[in-house]
Amino acid sequence: MLKAGCSFSMTIESPVVEETDVLVLGGGTAGVLAALAAARNGARTILVERYGYLGGMITAGNAGLTMYMKFSGQPSEHEADQKSLETKPEEVQIAGGITKEFADRLISSGIGIGNFGQAGSYIFTSSEDCKRLLFDMMAESGVKLRLHSWAVDVVMEGNRVAGVVVESKSGREIIAAGMVIDATGDGDICVRAGVPSYLGVTPLDLTAKAGSAKVGDMHAMGVMFKAGNVDLQTTFDWLVKNPDRFGKQPFARFTLEEAKERFERGDMATINILMDETPKRFQVYNLPIEGVVTLCCPSYKGDGTNVEDLSRAEVVLASMVNRWLANMRSLPGFGKAFLLDCPQIGVRETRHIVGEHLLDIEEIFKQTDFPDSIGRGSHPIDTTPRPDWLRDPETSYPPRWYFHIPFRSLIAKDVENLMVVGRCMSATHEAFGCIRPTVQCMITGEAAGTAGALCTKDGIGNIRALPVDQLRKTLADQGVLL
Ligand SMILES: Cc1cc2nc3c(=O)[nH]c(=O)nc-3n(C[C@H](O)[C@H](O)[C@H](O)COP(=O)(O)OP(=O)(O)OC[C@H]3O[C@@H](n4cnc5c(N)ncnc54)[C@H](O)[C@@H]3O)c2cc1C
Repeated sequence: MLKAGCSFSMTIESPVVEETDVLVLGGGTAGVLAALAAARNGARTILVERYGYLGGMITAGNAGLTMYMKFSGQPSEHEADQKSLETKPEEVQIAGGITKEFADRLISSGIGIGNFGQAGSYIFTSSEDCKRLLFDMMAESGVKLRLHSWAVDVVMEGNRVAGVVVESKSGREIIAAGMVIDATGDGDICVRAGVPSYLGVTPLDLTAKAGSAKVGDMHAMGVMFKAGNVDLQTTFDWLVKNPDRFGKQPFARFTLEEAKERFERGDMATINILMDETPKRFQVYNLPIEGVVTLCCPSYKGDGTNVEDLSRAEVVLASMVNRWLANMRSLPGFGKAFLLDCPQIGVRETRHIVGEHLLDIEEIFKQTDFPDSIGRGSHPIDTTPRPDWLRDPETSYPPRWYFHIPFRSLIAKDVENLMVVGRCMSATHEAFGCIRPTVQCMITGEAAGTAGALCTKDGIGNIRALPVDQLRKTLADQGVLL
């Protein structure tokens, strides 16, 4: 028997099975947008995903789309009546382009339920329907899918990624590509290509400099799950009589009365319920499916790039979900609740890949307008620990505040044709707290996919040679808000 601790180097002959213009690794939140944008801009595009479906955290992790944008058109009648909508729609909208199209399609097809306006909005979806919508969108745009495939390694030619090695039931194969986009969430392919990265809190974070966080600390993993057979009307009626059990959802800011009204007219209503036992506080999001809610968030501290931690997290979080549900059943409306859907744990933070620019929290907070900005974000910092002066998102962020995302933060350092999108783009831990919510990840995906296609069209081999004005104009023409 082999002894644990020894190691072997193995050479596996691998055929090049495909050639493509743009290759996207990871079909999650950012990856689907990257693939759609590349294909719609005329590039032959392949999307590689380890699971048999797309959507990443949105489908596999039950996460909502925290939009911090107005998601569609003009306000409806009841929305226009609300004081908050004195704001002009164009002033609150953060995301446009394919990101907005996706959000609009979720709502118009009944797959998602969303709230509107203010400096924020949420969309929560039926994950199975969302998976199908994403397949439809890929087919419409001509993206070639390679599902059930792990991206595991790279073939380098000098400073270029000439191909990516994928492992599946078919064996170990290579896909050759002109432009490569790492959308794995953990920067798996960037690491294989030798791009440096930080894990968790970086030495450049203000909290690390102030000594209130340790370099390497990571935001905890967590799990969002769906419960069925929940009578939320009964829960709301009980909360009205027991208002001390109502907690404001920090980023949605509904009062109990607003949330109840929203729920009763079939809109998105998000609340926190306070408990005496574990969980002390849990978040409830209603869905377009009657009797079904999404619940959040038992958490577990660990390293999402370590398979032992990931395995432990799945087991620990599964038992925490059971314990939470058992305790919740004592609440009016939750008596007959059952666990409906809990596909996997969610990893909030691992690597921050070093790009041509490392976005930091001061640039975000001061709204630095970069010449190569490829989109906006507007999410307050959502990670712990956070700097003291940004501890309370309710007071630290002015209304209708937004920040800019520079294209250089999507270009992997020292590699000619490799971009990185989603939560592991080039940002410090604190800046990542604003980038990691879904909508910002999607915006990065759309920009990188578009850039990859433009390079293909113009025969550009090094992403740095793409004129940034051309990229910005194309994005603006797609409806992206710069
Ligand atoms: C518990 C939890 C709750 C959250 N709640 C919210 C919320 O309510 N609202 C919000 O806006 N944000 C929320 N977030 C944050 C947000 O969901 C994520 O930060 C965001 O979705 C990350 O997008 P991504 O594209 O970087 O990664 P993902 O969406 O995780 O996509 C990565 C994709 O790559 C695939 N993949 C990974 N490695 C490989 C590989 N080597 N080869 C092939 N495929 C691979 C994965 O299967 C996945 O499909 C939450 C996060 C967590 C963990």
